[in-house]
Amino acid sequence: MKILLTGGAICPFDHSRRCIQSGYLGIKDGRIAFVSKQPPDSFKPDRVIDCQGDLILPGFINCHTHLAENLFKGLMEEVNFEGLFYTTLFRWESLLDPEMVYWGSMAGALDALRCGVTTVADMYHHATATAEAVSEIGLRGYIGQKILGFSLEKPPCPTKHGINYNFDFSAFSDQLEEAVKFATTRRGAAGGRITTCITPHATNTLNREMFVEIANRAEADGLNIHLHLAQMESEREAIQAREGMGCVEFLEDVGLLERPALGAHAIFVDEREIEILRRHHVSISHNPVPNARDAAAVAPISKMRERGITVGLGTDAFEMNMLQTARFAALINRVQTGQPDYLPAYDVLAMATIKGAKALGLDNEIGSLEPGKRADVTVFDMRRLNTQPARAPIKDLLYYGDVSNVRTVIVDGKVLFDAGEFTTVDVAKVKRMFLRSCSILEDRLYHN
Ligand SMILES: [Zn+2]
Repeated sequence: MKILLTGGAICPFDHSRRCIQSGYLGIKDGRIAFVSKQPPDSFKPDRVIDCQGDLILPGFINCHTHLAENLFKGLMEEVNFEGLFYTTLFRWESLLDPEMVYWGSMAGALDALRCGVTTVADMYHHATATAEAVSEIGLRGYIGQKILGFSLEKPPCPTKHGINYNFDFSAFSDQLEEAVKFATTRRGAAGGRITTCITPHATNTLNREMFVEIANRAEADGLNIHLHLAQMESEREAIQAREGMGCVEFLEDVGLLERPALGAHAIFVDEREIEILRRHHVSISHNPVPNARDAAAVAPISKMRERGITVGLGTDAFEMNMLQTARFAALINRVQTGQPDYLPAYDVLAMATIKGAKALGLDNEIGSLEPGKRADVTVFDMRRLNTQPARAPIKDLLYYGDVSNVRTVIVDGKVLFDAGEFTTVDVAKVKRMFLRSCSILEDRLYHN
């Protein structure tokens, strides 16, 4: 299949920082054939998409999410998230089954697609169901099965001496085996669109012995790591009390950073720990919207970026709007640094694309529009009133764009979303089954 996109502004996010005002992008057999001001005469497309007035970018890469967690939408906002985390969340998650996770993931993945996302980095329970949903829709996934240091039937609980984590090595071992089985059997699935990794939940929800075991298995099976890292104050305090060190120092100490690692959040880290992240080439997913929603602090990504650490962007749970995430990242970090020109539009959209690809170790294949790379492309209609007069499309998109500007989304050379329509699945059925799963969940929540 050959597709030709004609006449749009193209920002390839390659090494040149160039944007072509009116260009041509050719796609052949799932890969980008060329990006140029003129199409080669020899290219005979099966389909031509007229992109006059559009902006063509690499698809967004959401570096940290839990697609199926949107089953809990509406139940976890405007609350003390940190408290809820230890008292309620794990008990709620014990009520999920693979079918609910499948429909939750389907709904989340369609929402992501609608927002111009082409790759999702997901960690959750029943990861096989999420991988199936992502595969069926046609998205690209970087997926892991969540591992906890306790059984969901006996989760952490607050006591008057602090949180009792109820660590249980046998329950952990079962989860580790399941996670490794998922990661080793599903890697490269869906024609290479599924990359797997190993995903311990967070630094505080497993103990030293468990992390050492995970580090060994990750090394033995050649698996990358994705985990929550220094997201909460109580997480840092727990590691400090248990180990006498910070979260990042702890991960280095247990050998987890010997493998390529992606840490989500990285809010409560000090200068010394930022240096450890740099030394071990750990990538960070900056998730400023949920961090602000939960009244946490702003992660020190300006210091991380100064040191050359790769920082991508993630939405975390419930919503998939990467454009909003990029805009919010620029704005909140300007407040944080006091610099009105900090994270200019190009740089923050680079975090949503090529830097995100690098954070997942997939930048040889995706993240920019360059010949030979997989054709993951998002086309934005800039003729809508909110983005007119479109003098500077990249700035117009970041500051004034919204989901209504997403016109066409292509993954692996296949058009998955076009003019408001999903091309691979029956969206009405997904919505119906998602809502059905939400009510089954509510039933279990309130009758357990
Ligand atoms: Zn998360």
